[in-house]
Amino acid sequence: MSDPKELCPDELDAASGGSGAGFSHAYARVSPELCVCCGACASECPSDAPRRSGDAYEIDPDLCVACGACADACPIGAIRIS
Ligand code: SF4
Ligand code: SF4
Repeated sequence: MSDPKELCPDELDAASGGSGAGFSHAYARVSPELCVCCGACASECPSDAPRRSGDAYEIDPDLCVACGACADACPIGAIRIS
C-alpha cells in the first residue's frame, strides 16, 4: 500500500524551506457556515483570491496578500485574517 504522505500546511511550509511558498503567512479565511455567497469579497480582492466553492466562498492562500479588503466588504463578518 502506498503512503500518500499527506502534510498539513505548516509541514508543507517547512518542507518548502520556509521560503514563503507555503501557507505560514496570514491570509483571509471564510467561515463557510456564515457565508451567503454575495461575492463582495471577490469584487474587492486585488488578487482574485476568493473563489466560490459550493455554498460558500473560499480564499486561495497562495493568492491572498492579507490586505483585509474582503473582510471589510463582507456584510456579515464571515472573513477573518489570521
Ligand atoms: S485579504 Fe485582501 S488579498 Fe486576501 S482575499 Fe481578502 S481582499 Fe483578497
Ligand atoms: S463577502 Fe462574505 S458573505 Fe459575501 S461571498 Fe464573501 S465571505 Fe461570503
